[in-house]
Amino acid sequence: MGLLFVESLPGPKVFKCKFCKVDSASHDAIISKDFHGRFGRAYLFKSVVNISLGPNEDRHLLTGLHTVNDIYCSCCQQILGWRYKIMYAAGEGI
Ligand SMILES: [Zn+2]
Repeated sequence: MGLLFVESLPGPKVFKCKFCKVDSASHDAIISKDFHGRFGRAYLFKSVVNISLGPNEDRHLLTGLHTVNDIYCSCCQQILGWRYKIMYAAGEGI
């Protein structure tokens, strides 16, 4: 693997990957704290950093059938959550 560019977020309150502690999302980017994913509660963010996207997948969510992508930490490759439309929900890995 080549050099990995890691983006840092400003501010005292930043969500980090729980596996490698790299910054993942700012509190300012939260759209909803009451989102439910496959593994329980999740946060919905309008933007996240240091992630890579999995392939498109059609998934049945509470609000119907949506095309989603799993999102992975770009540093440690652990799953952080998934991308839903243009928003990001991070539950199990943050
Ligand atoms: Zn990580």
